[in-house]
Order: sequence, then C-alpha cells, then structure tokens
Amino acid sequence: MARLNILHHPDPRLRKKAAPVEAVDAQIRQIVDDMFETMYAAQGIGLAATQANIHQRIITIDVAEKGNEPLCLINPEIIQQEGSVEHEEGCLSVPDYYDKVTRAERIRVRAIDRDGNTYEKDADGLLAVCIQHEMDHLEGKLFVDYLSSLKQQRVRKKMEKWEKEHAKGAARKPAQAAAG
Ligand code: ZN
Repeated sequence: MARLNILHHPDPRLRKKAAPVEAVDAQIRQIVDDMFETMYAAQGIGLAATQANIHQRIITIDVAEKGNEPLCLINPEIIQQEGSVEHEEGCLSVPDYYDKVTRAERIRVRAIDRDGNTYEKDADGLLAVCIQHEMDHLEGKLFVDYLSSLKQQRVRKKMEKWEKEHAKGAARKPAQAAAG
C-alpha cells in the first residue's frame, strides 16, 4: 500500500475527465487500496482517483464517524435522483475552504465494487452529497465551480497563499471531517 499525492486546486490535472475502468484487475484493486489509505490518512470522507492524478472512474468513500464503512464505487452512475438539499462541503483538493452547495437530496447509484460486482445503492444525507461531489471530480469539476465568480476568485487567492505556506515544509493541518 502506498499513500498517493493529492492535487490541489487550481492544478489543471483536476480538470481532466476520467476514463471508465474496463476490468477490475489487480492493478485497479491496488489503486482502490491506495486511495483508501490516502483518504483515511488525510481524514477525508471521500476521494476520487482524479484527485490523485489517476484518471480512471474510481471513488472511495467512508462517511461513518468511526471510519468503518468503506465504500468503493467504480464507474458510478446516478440512475435516480430526487429533491434538493444545501450542504456545506469541503474538499481535500481545496484545503481549509468550506461553502454551501445545492445537490440532489436522494440518489440511487449503480457502481462496481472492488471485487468487480455491479451493485445499486440508495443514498441520502451526507452520503448522497459525498457521492455527487466525488462523481463531479471524475468529470473534472470541483465544488467551488458552483460558487459565484467573486467567491471563486477569493478561493483561488486563498489557495495560492496556502500553497506558498505549505511549500515551505510547514506541517499540514489535518483536513476537517467534511472534506472529500
Ligand atoms: Zn473533493
């Protein structure tokens, strides 16, 4: 297992669209395991492969407080959705920034698990928000894209400052629980 490097906004590699996984083989399972390790180490609740500069449609999630409900979604598709809900989001690729985004309240998602089996899952609350947030990453989209252009400019400035501070080798603060 290995920890992966997480890209930070505005890195253009976060804008690449991920390709579907053709077969869940040993290499894909290794990526899944590395993503879980990276996500838990960063105290995130979700990670898309795109964030680790791997442009395949793979997501890892664990929204349980104890971090004991790992969920792997390969080639995820939302097949049903209803309602809308506003939720404060964060992102491991946009450190130390949180803002409200409106998304579908309830979804049904179809995906492939780490063993290569297709499954469907109903989700609401934080899990539904997290799945939609991570699926956006696979399209090259970030949660800050939903904000006003003024706020987006502010986020960019904040990220430039963050990168400068952290490039000096300062210890990274652990990401907050809502980050994905
Ligand atoms: Zn994110």
